[in-house]
Order: sequence, then C-alpha cells, then structure tokens
Amino acid sequence: MTTTPPENEDIMLDIAIIGAGPAGLAAALRLHQQGFRPRIYESVTELKPLGVGIDVKVYGAKELDELGLLEEFRAISVDAKESIFYNKYGQEIYAELCGVHMGYLYEQRFVHRGYLQMLLYRTVLERLGQDAVVTGVRCLGYTQDADGVTLDVRHGDGTEGTVRADVVVAADGIKSTVRAQMHPGMSEPVYSGITMWRGTTLMEPFRDGHTILHIGAPQSSSMIVYPIADDFEGTGKTLVNWVVEATRTESVEDWNQLGAVEEIIGYYDQFELDFLDVQQMLRDAREVYLFPLIRHDPLETWVDGRVVLIGDAAHAMYPRGGNGACQAIVDGGALAEALATHDDPHEALKAFEAARIDQVNGIVMAHRGEGYEVIRRIVEDRTEGQPFEDIEQILPLAEADEIFSKYHKLVGQPRPGWESGQATGFRTWERAGETR
Ligand SMILES: Cc1cc2nc3c(=O)[nH]c(=O)nc-3n(C[C@H](O)[C@H](O)[C@H](O)COP(=O)(O)OP(=O)(O)OC[C@H]3O[C@@H](n4cnc5c(N)ncnc54)[C@H](O)[C@@H]3O)c2cc1C
Repeated sequence: MTTTPPENEDIMLDIAIIGAGPAGLAAALRLHQQGFRPRIYESVTELKPLGVGIDVKVYGAKELDELGLLEEFRAISVDAKESIFYNKYGQEIYAELCGVHMGYLYEQRFVHRGYLQMLLYRTVLERLGQDAVVTGVRCLGYTQDADGVTLDVRHGDGTEGTVRADVVVAADGIKSTVRAQMHPGMSEPVYSGITMWRGTTLMEPFRDGHTILHIGAPQSSSMIVYPIADDFEGTGKTLVNWVVEATRTESVEDWNQLGAVEEIIGYYDQFELDFLDVQQMLRDAREVYLFPLIRHDPLETWVDGRVVLIGDAAHAMYPRGGNGACQAIVDGGALAEALATHDDPHEALKAFEAARIDQVNGIVMAHRGEGYEVIRRIVEDRTEGQPFEDIEQILPLAEADEIFSKYHKLVGQPRPGWESGQATGFRTWERAGETR
C-alpha cells in the first residue's frame, strides 16, 4: 500500500480540519493520499491517549490497511476471535466468530481509543509534517463567501484570530461547534436515561484472551467485556475493557467524567461465569468513566457551502457496537475521493454526503435501538427474567442468526455465507462437544 501522495499539481485546495480525533486524523491521512496538504486545528494544547476501549470492526481494519497502518495497528491491538452472549445468570445465549475467524477478509480488533488516536496522530506528523496539526486552537464559528471560509478561533493564550481555507472539514466531535452553527435547532442533546460506566482492569486474560462477552439484560444490568492490550505496558497482564449500561437520572455529555464501581457492582450479585469473576474485575478497576447515552437526531445534511461535518460531529451515535469510531474513519476516505474527483468544492462535499449519509443515519438509528444486543432483551422477556432450561426453545439459533446477519449488513460488513443461507452462529458448549 503506497502512502506517498500522487503528484497532482491541479489539487491546490487549502483544507482546514477542525479536531484531531480519529475522524480528523484519518481524514488528513486520506486527503494526503489524494495529494492534498490539509492542516488540523485542535482545541487541546497537548494530545494525550485518553479514553478506554474501541471495538474496531472488519471494515475499520480495512480502512487502516488502506492507510498503510495495519501492521502498526496490530501491534497495539488484540485480535477478536469470538463474541459470546449471556443472560444475567451467566447462561449462554449465542456465540459468533469474529473477523477472519468468521471468514471476513479482515480482522476485527480491540484497541485502546487513545492508542489508536496516537497512532494516527504520529502518522499525520510523519507524513504531512510537524506543522500539520496545530494544537491549542479552538474553532468558535465560521463565515463564508464565494471563494472560501473564515474560521474564528481562540488560541490557548486567550487571544482570538481567524483561519482562512478553501474547504473546512469539521471533525470536532459530539459537542461540535460547527454542527451547532450549521443546524441551530438540531444540536440540543436529549438524554436517554441510560448511562455507561466505562472502565479498564489489569488482569489475567479470560478464556483465550481474544473473546468479547455480552452479559445480562439491556437497560438493567448490561455489560460488555473485552481485552484491549496484551502484556500492557510490560506488566505481563492484559488490559481488559468493560462497559456497564444502567439507568441513571443526572447526566452530562462529557467523555472525561469520573464514575465509581460501587454504583453498579450490585447488578452482578447473581452472575457467575466459571472463567471470569466479574465482581472482582469491577473492584480492581484502574479507571472508571461515566458516559451518558445522548440522543442526537440524524442530520438531513452535513454540508453548508464549503463546510462539511464528519465523524461524531456529523453522526454522533450511541457508543455501542464499535461503529462510531469506524464510521468516523470511513468518512475520510470517501471525503478525500470526492474532493479529488470534483472541481467544485461544494459539489465534492455534496457527493461525499450522498455517498455516506443514508447508510450512516441508518446506523445511528439502529444503535438507538439495541442493535444485535436485542437478543439479550428477547431472552429476558421470553423467560420473564428467569433462568432457562433449553435456549433453543427460547431463542432458536436461526432466529438469532437472522438478527445478526441483518445488523452486519446494515453496518457495511455482510456476514460471509449468509446470502447462501448458511447459519453461522453457534453455542460454545456444542462446539466443544458438550451437552446441556
Ligand atoms: C477524550 C475522549 C475520550 C473518548 N473515549 C472514548 C472511549 O473510551 N470509547 C469510545 O467508543 N469512544 C470514545 N471517544 C469518542 C470516540 O473517539 C468517537 O466516538 C469516535 O472515534 C469519532 O471520533 P471523532 O474524531 O469524530 O470525535 P472525537 O474523538 O470526539 O474527537 C473530536 C476532537 O475535536 C476536538 N475539538 C472539539 N471541539 C473543537 C473545537 N471547537 N475546535 C477545535 N477542536 C475541537 C476535540 O478535542 C477532539 O480531539 C472519546 C472521545 C474523546 C474526545
């Protein structure tokens, strides 16, 4: 995969990107591959590896491959082999393989969000130059005329100024200033009533060290657990990411709010797995953050003249299922291609929007529901919250397969073998030759 941009003297657009999150950084790399030299303006004065885990789907790994970063990404992430679903008593409901183990061309991998961001950041500086990311510059708003866009900005020292560009790419995240200006009536976030407790624990790997667990009943005690780094920082232990969803009243939309495990540990009193002590994992947490599920309605357009929204600024979605970060990265490639193949910047941005908006808005809405996690609610409802005798009588494999296959198709990674009618889910005990 070549990472040297083509010689393209026709491409003279001056592109300003707002925000150095995964969306802004990936877009910069994609634009560079097409011969552009964008510059990123980021509000924080120093980028640090913040956040916890991200589940990078096969189409996200493909993007990283096309950016020439797959090997480096592999070195900071964990291969996902198996995904297993349990009810709140630890009874297995369903399992599927992941990534190449399922037959996809690419792996699905788990990674620390901050490590992924730092990989993209380092690569932008290497390929586009040290001055390609300007930190400590907050965008306050924009005005535009027929020839370009003027950004009003505030510098870290409090002084204000302007940045002029031919095209502005707003990748300024869930609380996007640019989205608020472009869609004044649409930016009021609505709290769903559900909050995520997001944490990590340094521990021995569970199962084979490559498994994601989906536990409990949605909305009352739902938990997702997966490893994000082996031999984390030379400790010889695995850094495990966990997310608990539960109802809560008060809520602030901020990725950096601290939380406490005491608020959630009681949900797992009845829960038992022979390979993982969930309560101990929660007690041993290194860090716990709160993040509310905030509803941002899908936007009808991401484009205003020469200004375009990408990533969470365009399509903030509930951070379930790993699609927020992956869809943010996909935006960059589509945007760079549109800008490289259209002379008129506005037409290019509209072409990008046309290529992406319907699918991504569909994913935003699917995540507002439960996505494939709905199988845990179906089991909870059909068993009236009680343990079951025979899962096939409660949720037949074929029914679960259909739910999963539709979801994978929606997010842009149709399940291998589904179209030809193969059932691809399973129960792990049956695979192991056991009976229950
Ligand atoms: C600190 C932090 C921690 C996160 N942790 C997780 C996590 O653990 N798990 C998860 O799934 N997702 C997490 N996310 C969100 C995740 O990164 C996004 O959902 C996804 O990757 C899409 O990325 P994005 O680049 O669109 O947005 P973001 O990752 O939110 O990046 C937006 C960037 O824009 C900058 N910015 C914002 N406003 C302005 C402005 N006015 N001017 C200039 N710059 C601005 C921000 O500082 C940030 O660097 C986190 C985001 C942040 C900011």
